[in-house]
Amino acid sequence: MNALDKNKKKCTAWCEDCEEVFDNIIDSEIHKDFKKHRIKLIEFWTISKR
Ligand SMILES: [Zn+2]
Repeated sequence: MNALDKNKKKCTAWCEDCEEVFDNIIDSEIHKDFKKHRIKLIEFWTISKR
């Protein structure tokens, strides 16, 4: 079983104050600290199709 290779967990962060979207949590943390905005984390799984 190699199901985990096909399903990748992805994390996206979304700023509630200026609606900017971040591909990784590190960028969102910087934005949060720098601009004092509220960050909303969205976790999802990507399922690759054959
Ligand atoms: Zn922001």
